[in-house]
Amino acid sequence: MAGLTRRGALLLGGAVLGGIATKELVSRLPVLDGAGVIEPSDAATVLNDASLLSETPIHRHVVMDGDPGEALVSRLRAELKEAASARRPVSIGAARHSMGGQAIPRGGHAVTFRNAMVEPDTAAGTYRVHAGARWSEVIAALDPIGYSPKVMQSNHDFGVAATFSVNAHGWPAPLGPMGSTVRAVTMVMADGALVRASRDENADLFSAAMGGYGLIGLLTELEVEMVPNVRLEPTFAEMPGVAFGPAFAAAVKDGAVNMAYGRLNVDRSRFFEDVLMITYRPAADQGDLPAAGTSGFISNASRNIFRAQLGRERIKRWRWWTETDLGPRIAGGAVTRNTLLNEPVVTLDDRDPTRTDILHEYFVPPERFADFLAACREIIPGSYQELLNVTLRWLEPDRDSLLAFAPGPRIAAVMLFSQEMSARAEADMARMTELLIDRVIALGGAYYLPYRLHARLDQFSASYARARDFIGVKRAADPGLTLRNALWDKYMGTL
Ligand SMILES: Cc1cc2nc3c(=O)[nH]c(=O)nc-3n(C[C@H](O)[C@H](O)[C@H](O)COP(=O)(O)OP(=O)(O)OC[C@H]3O[C@@H](n4cnc5c(N)ncnc54)[C@H](O)[C@@H]3O)c2cc1C
Repeated sequence: MAGLTRRGALLLGGAVLGGIATKELVSRLPVLDGAGVIEPSDAATVLNDASLLSETPIHRHVVMDGDPGEALVSRLRAELKEAASARRPVSIGAARHSMGGQAIPRGGHAVTFRNAMVEPDTAAGTYRVHAGARWSEVIAALDPIGYSPKVMQSNHDFGVAATFSVNAHGWPAPLGPMGSTVRAVTMVMADGALVRASRDENADLFSAAMGGYGLIGLLTELEVEMVPNVRLEPTFAEMPGVAFGPAFAAAVKDGAVNMAYGRLNVDRSRFFEDVLMITYRPAADQGDLPAAGTSGFISNASRNIFRAQLGRERIKRWRWWTETDLGPRIAGGAVTRNTLLNEPVVTLDDRDPTRTDILHEYFVPPERFADFLAACREIIPGSYQELLNVTLRWLEPDRDSLLAFAPGPRIAAVMLFSQEMSARAEADMARMTELLIDRVIALGGAYYLPYRLHARLDQFSASYARARDFIGVKRAADPGLTLRNALWDKYMGTL
């Protein structure tokens, strides 16, 4: 494929939190006209996503950059009307870092939002934000007034509405997914109605749209909670993996921890045996916080050795040493919360068009975490996949979303694999994913929906107990099924 670019590892506070290699996601790049809208209507228009494996023909790709007012709503209504009359699907995306066509409408109308509107309300502790704003833009607006996003992913490239729509989580602790920090949303429904939804108003639509992958309505703006920006100091603790579940639960509940994550050793000689736990607490000195930067020296050191791990166990061992031994000694300084959150999906061009980075994520009850590690040790080394990184985060129960992946407290395990771009590797990845999901379900956990669609239908239903309630709300809100993507087509549309 032409125009190869690589978007690389996500490094933070001494550890790579995830990673992705990305070729051009849009093979025919749109050009904004004066009104912020383009419409290349061309049968050859295709969209891809961060997996590089989702290339899908679409009817049209429209980029909208207007404020969330009447003009934007009119554009969305026109798009919906035209699509519905031709029985074509519609889907909005932001960065399209989902990995299985969750933001791609096959043969349909793909919309991308670009607008950085962020309006903080310090009295309310919230901000009003355009659905398409990226987290980097939110941090840029909040940092100068001393505030910080309450929950976002571990990187700042993603869209705010997209984050709500997958109900993503990050490593602020002890908190639930991002939807728990959203007070209200405004969305254009499939019939063109403009609806405001919250826990008190159209509550069924709010619960379905949170983690609803854009299948309920097209979000135009959100009202989201913010918290004070603070200077934080890290504490590092290395421990056996079997001790991590209770240790992490205790650490995030100690009342002072503001951010926390863990990282598993992926060196095959100690595979999933050791965990490094990093907790951040407020520093004694909170005066004159510097402007948000990005993470520092150790992050860059890790970045340099991250790609070198591929096929090299010696490098994996070296990396573990830098992060467990060297890292705490040289990266132990204070840093602001916004700096920790302000991490881009870094470009790491490994010049290898034969491979792609694929994420998995599993949500495990903390008391079963040792069993999860044992299952991974049985399954992953038997595959042909190259596991480069695993980070662990804490999740408080999600009581809002119909498609909740954390109905109780969970440890989230985020795995980054490097996958060969071939049919045999894809089949091997699908086989391994099914095995992992079966074991996670048996432990009372779930897998995450924004990644490759390798789960079987029964695994989807077992992981998402209220999926049928979600489908009921969706069919009532959108009886013509105009809002569709690959996730709907593969699973929910068949139930
Ligand atoms: C490198 C990498 C790191 C990641 N890190 C994390 C992490 O730390 N935590 C985590 O939970 N997840 C993480 N993810 C998963 C990520 O959160 C989701 O893929 C997220 O949706 C990405 O945002 P996006 O802007 O790329 O969304 P997109 O892929 O563009 O969209 C995601 C979904 O949101 C819908 N959507 C987007 N905008 C709207 C709108 N305006 N109205 C209605 N629906 C909309 C889309 O239709 C789609 O279904 C990561 C993914 C990658 C590739």
